[in-house]
Amino acid sequence: MSYFKRNEGTIFFAFASIGFIAFYCINYFIRRCRDRSASAGNTSEEAGMSPRRPPRGLDPEAIDSCPSFVYKEARGIEPGIGELECVVCLNEFKDDETLRLVPPCVHVFHADCVDIWLSHSSTCPICRADVVP
Ligand SMILES: [Zn+2]
Ligand SMILES: [Zn+2]
Repeated sequence: MSYFKRNEGTIFFAFASIGFIAFYCINYFIRRCRDRSASAGNTSEEAGMSPRRPPRGLDPEAIDSCPSFVYKEARGIEPGIGELECVVCLNEFKDDETLRLVPPCVHVFHADCVDIWLSHSSTCPICRADVVP
């Protein structure tokens, strides 16, 4: 009789510990899910913030309002421009390329190069003058 009782106690203890382990596992699983969703929320928040993070750049309308022209045409008007190269990509200007000049200092770049530059920074790549279109 006493042996049976002890056995019963062992079974009860086993069930109790299984229950405890299961509870612990579920608790851990829930916490892990919550952590993951919290961190997922953080990353999506960061991703959402990153396009807003470079507030120093100009918006596309402002960049568009900087004067642009085809190199071939400008070279006819201003001979000195023939010696220029784009400091952003370090390539010389070619006849059919579209260039853009930056208003305050009149430095000239490829339109494509300076558009990308100005979307990240509002200063001239050469002299750091504030670009105010
Ligand atoms: Zn360039
Ligand atoms: Zn400049």
